[in-house]
Amino acid sequence: MQVDKEAYAIIFGVKKFFQYLYGRRFTLLTDNQAISKIFGEHKGLPVMSALRMQHYATYLQSFNYEIRFRKSANHANADAMSRFPLDISDPENEIEESDAVELSQIDTLPLTAAELGQVTAEDHTVQKLIQGIKHGHSVEAKDRFGVEQHEFSLQKGCLLRGIRVYVPAPLQKRVLEELHSTHFGTTRTKSLARGYCWWPGLDRDIEDMVANCADCQSVRAEPAKMNLHCWETPTAPFQRVHVDFDGPYLDTYFFIYVDAYSKSRSKYAGPSRPKVPSICIARSSASLAFRQSW
Ligand SMILES: [Zn+2]
Repeated sequence: MQVDKEAYAIIFGVKKFFQYLYGRRFTLLTDNQAISKIFGEHKGLPVMSALRMQHYATYLQSFNYEIRFRKSANHANADAMSRFPLDISDPENEIEESDAVELSQIDTLPLTAAELGQVTAEDHTVQKLIQGIKHGHSVEAKDRFGVEQHEFSLQKGCLLRGIRVYVPAPLQKRVLEELHSTHFGTTRTKSLARGYCWWPGLDRDIEDMVANCADCQSVRAEPAKMNLHCWETPTAPFQRVHVDFDGPYLDTYFFIYVDAYSKSRSKYAGPSRPKVPSICIARSSASLAFRQSW
């Protein structure tokens, strides 16, 4: 979450000194290289799933600034304050503002952060990814579900993709039930899920759940009723014929047509589907039958 915190520090500083900065050119110095790239002047909006970073970038776009990277060793004027020991008895319970958003995301779920963290720690499918995030090295695509690694972060042992909390398999059913407690249909349940949680195959799980929910199915909108259309009665032979292929039956294909007026039937039978277009067969048979009927 280091990047988030660094980004928030910049936003905090810019807000704090808004009246001195707005409308003037200024320089932002950061000792975080990633941040200096993400918020670089001509970068446009960062393509990240973390909505918060996009909000930060959008906010910064209204300022005229240049951003420069400065090594931590030379950044002592700003870092000095953060390195003074603080008189906090339980630093674990001090929540940074940038973390508060993510913790509140976890709180919305029908799980506690502790429970989620514990089950996540036992979930072998994400261990390589978690180690990668902790130690800042990249992991193979298969170990991060084919999703860009920078989209993931860790918060109190819980894995997040953007602001969506990763839910390990043993807890997914409970989250699904919560998502569907008001029996929204598939689309609304999915959009609700997109705001809070994520796991591979989540959309499919929601579709299955709604499809198998008796309550939802009983109130599902029936397709609109169509009026049955009856063919008009023809007034002469071969005004209209009905044709179709049939087969193979005993290795034989049939091309069948019925004259709607006389109900006389004809068929072509062959070892394969006729090569001649059906319209030609129908026309030649029809003209023959027509001549015979006169
Ligand atoms: Zn339902």
